[in-house]
Amino acid sequence: MSKSKKINVLPEDLINKIAAGEVIDRPASVVKELVENALDAGATEITVIIGEGGKSLIQVVDNGSGMDESDLLLAFQRHATSKISDYADLTRIQTLGFRGEALASIASVARVEAKSVPQGSTSGHLLRIEGGVMQQVQAHAGNPGTSVAVKNLFFNTPARRKFLRATNTEYRQILSVLNRFFLAYPELSFTLVKDGEAVQELKPQSLEERIGAVLGSRVRKNLVPVENEGYLRISGFVGNQDAARSSRGDQYFYFNRRYFTHKNLNYAVFSAYGDIIPRGTYPFFLLFLEMEPEQADVNVHPTKMEVKFSNEQLVFASVRGAVKRALSTAHVIPTFSPQTAPPSRPETTTQADWYRPAVQPQGELSLRGPELPPQPPSPGPSLGSGDAAAPPLVTPQATPPPLPGGDKSIYEPTNVWQVHRKYILSEIKTGLILIDQHVAHERILYEQALESFEKRKPASQQLLFPLTVELSAEDFELLLEMIPFLERIGFIIKAFGKNTVVLEGVPSGIRLTGEEKCLIDMLDEFKRGKKENLDIRDNVAKSFACRSAIKAGEPLTREAMNALIDQLFSTREPYFCPHGRPVIINLSLEEIDRRFKRS
Ligand code: ADP
Ligand code: MG
Repeated sequence: MSKSKKINVLPEDLINKIAAGEVIDRPASVVKELVENALDAGATEITVIIGEGGKSLIQVVDNGSGMDESDLLLAFQRHATSKISDYADLTRIQTLGFRGEALASIASVARVEAKSVPQGSTSGHLLRIEGGVMQQVQAHAGNPGTSVAVKNLFFNTPARRKFLRATNTEYRQILSVLNRFFLAYPELSFTLVKDGEAVQELKPQSLEERIGAVLGSRVRKNLVPVENEGYLRISGFVGNQDAARSSRGDQYFYFNRRYFTHKNLNYAVFSAYGDIIPRGTYPFFLLFLEMEPEQADVNVHPTKMEVKFSNEQLVFASVRGAVKRALSTAHVIPTFSPQTAPPSRPETTTQADWYRPAVQPQGELSLRGPELPPQPPSPGPSLGSGDAAAPPLVTPQATPPPLPGGDKSIYEPTNVWQVHRKYILSEIKTGLILIDQHVAHERILYEQALESFEKRKPASQQLLFPLTVELSAEDFELLLEMIPFLERIGFIIKAFGKNTVVLEGVPSGIRLTGEEKCLIDMLDEFKRGKKENLDIRDNVAKSFACRSAIKAGEPLTREAMNALIDQLFSTREPYFCPHGRPVIINLSLEEIDRRFKRS
């Protein structure tokens, strides 16, 4: 190494591989580039075929302009594009692509088979390229349009291949890329085939219908239209408070129908909501911004996911204003805040709405402790079908737990009080303890869930009316991962057709109203856990516990409080909730005495 290094001009093949790293980092980016090309070619029908999360196959078939032989050959050369020819063109881009490097990059790191037949013709050409090296060109007959099949992505770049995630993960990334296109082009037909099965077939429809088809009826039912005319045209929808989610999810900005992300503009939308959605939740939005292309630079990032506006302040103000106007005309009701909540409703966030005790009309919840005498048979079909199998922690009861006179001795309530419907204050020998009711229950449910993963027969209660929940394809995939574990906890949940599940039962002892919201919340929690790379069992258990536990604001009976304390102290880790928050604050007599200057 003593000699000075010689400067090499890198061979073309290596240059392409390096460049590929910028735009092609995973299967989803291949999908993005190929669909963009199909759209730029004016296709009205686009089929996307995915094998093994894109690891073995990504194919995009379109009925667009097609290419003749010489164009087909040129298309795979670096910096070969039909979309711009000089600098002036670069400043007024109307197409999604323009850099002329996607196909060259893809071909350098995969095995590619491209077929193209120009419009008006029935014959065209097929070419095969492997790792950037042309293998074969031959005549090919077929319908006008183009098909690009990308096989064995990164077969020749092992370092990159190693970074590919689990098949499901890659597939979900692909879905989220595709959703952006599906939503932006409702007038076009799209078909998505996953491992041989058509999982999405979208026909031309209105934007509203398309939103329903892609993201489910829950979002569709909660849309507020947004319109703005002038220098910046804005159209699309925002969601009302019922479409808000606790994880950042379905938020779409487009500039001249190009999807982009923009922190500041996100904030413009959030701030327009004010108090309409609870803190910590994220609104749904799908907003199309349109301006003269010269007013923005889309070439600020290799994957073209960012846009720089020449007058950002104005764009910010227009977006915020348009969303505010839309929300104010749509009678969107602000969420309850503790001050404004009617007294009959406990101080809860909307999240608590799905957790309501079964039969007690005042919303009183009873927790049954192990020392209570056996319950009379449950009155309704939705209650306690599995009680015998495993005693539930929380049992909604029609009447307060019977305490037959002679047996009173077995039930000895300690001194407990509920404070602000949030904390349980209890006297213990050495002083007093303050327990956070929500996190305490979370800890109990979490350990219970972990245990039930090991058990054979979970205790479930059938829902009186099975509930059909329509999800986005992405959420559906995620839920499929969770289902085997949720079943172990006691959920009876079945995949049912496209992106739909039917919820037939919930864990015994837990009565949920608004089960759909519960599922969605669990999904969001699960997503968050995934980002932290939680083990799947741990993640499902945490998501379940967090979303099913009693909330701050729920009134508790004395029996319920006692049972909760009992259950808490039989967990392995009573002092911390699964997320690490403290459950119990201990105030010793000594400390109290000291404060009162008694000692
Ligand atoms: P860019 O899209 O930036 O121009 P690409 O490498 O993605 O670069 O594509 C190179 C060229 O190949 C495009 O400019 C276009 O002319 C042609 N092309 C690519 N895909 C298609 C397609 N599906 N239909 C018709 N032409 C295509
Ligand atoms: Mg392109």
